[in-house]
Amino acid sequence: MREPDGGVEPDVDGVEQAVSTGLLPGWDEVEQHVGDALERYLPRTSGAVADYIPVLAAADPELFGIAVAEVSGALHSAGDAEAGFSIQSIAKAFVYAMVCDELGHDTVRERVGVNNTGLSFNSVIAIELNNGHPMNPMVNAGALATTALVPGATPAEQWERIRTRLSAFAGRQLELDGQVYHSEMLSNQRNKAIARLLESYGRIDRDPLEITDIYTRQCSLTVTARDIAVMGATLADGGVNPVTGVRVVSPQVCRDTLSVLAATGMYERSGEWLFEIGLPAKSGVSGGIVAIAPGKGAIGTFSPRLDSAGNSVRGQRATAYLSRTLGLNLFASAARPPRTESHR
Ligand code: GLU
Repeated sequence: MREPDGGVEPDVDGVEQAVSTGLLPGWDEVEQHVGDALERYLPRTSGAVADYIPVLAAADPELFGIAVAEVSGALHSAGDAEAGFSIQSIAKAFVYAMVCDELGHDTVRERVGVNNTGLSFNSVIAIELNNGHPMNPMVNAGALATTALVPGATPAEQWERIRTRLSAFAGRQLELDGQVYHSEMLSNQRNKAIARLLESYGRIDRDPLEITDIYTRQCSLTVTARDIAVMGATLADGGVNPVTGVRVVSPQVCRDTLSVLAATGMYERSGEWLFEIGLPAKSGVSGGIVAIAPGKGAIGTFSPRLDSAGNSVRGQRATAYLSRTLGLNLFASAARPPRTESHR
């Protein structure tokens, strides 16, 4: 059954599906499509700004920015692509990648899991239904368990490691927004409860309240649509930041992270998202979405009005449009030209 607000509605009727050639189109064409996406979806004003974290309710709902970062390092943007917002859940993707890089595929898979729970991002019942296994690294339980695995002798060391590594993904020093952090610390009782519950199941070895504090900090880093596009393009580029040329994680970690994002990155609409848009992606409650096209680049969007699952209304549509026009959908193919006898 469709959700009351329509679920993932790509809104790309009449837009031709370009088929992937393995490369992005030329510079001018990408520029044109990014500008067109902004113009096409700017009039959309449905959805509502998240308000369960008080400071998020103060976001300007009119902001709309789009950025595309290519693996060549080329950047395209339109609208408010330089407007700052708190990264929120998008941090989960990159902290997951850094922990996989430090501890390896098997440890993280066993400890955190790689499946969608089908329940909301802050679900407690999902933990109970799975015998204390967080299952999904892209919702709060899984992300708290992942953050607990970050190496470091003290919480301060763990936090510094996260900030440094996420900054390497972005190619610039990311700063904590103190106002967001304090507002979220005053309203994150549920996350503290989730961390305690995970501790009771032996899924968090460290102090659960300290882990919730680090998790809240990672959600409070300020980024722009351009930053998240570059962060995503690093995952599209085998782990090398295409702007700085610095290796951040291994190619295997990129593959692992992107497969997890494909299954779980868009809350309980992840299957619908993959069906309509065909790209691994992660969204956050402040209105950001990053979508990654392996080997090509990434799209970063920011617009604070969300649908009922917590995904940005304009961001989803702009990403759907660009996936289609730039030929990014991983599942789109066209029949091969007629076979010659020798290749039959
Ligand atoms: N900091 C938010 C929370 O823990 C992140 C939620 C999200 O972006 O999905 O509630």
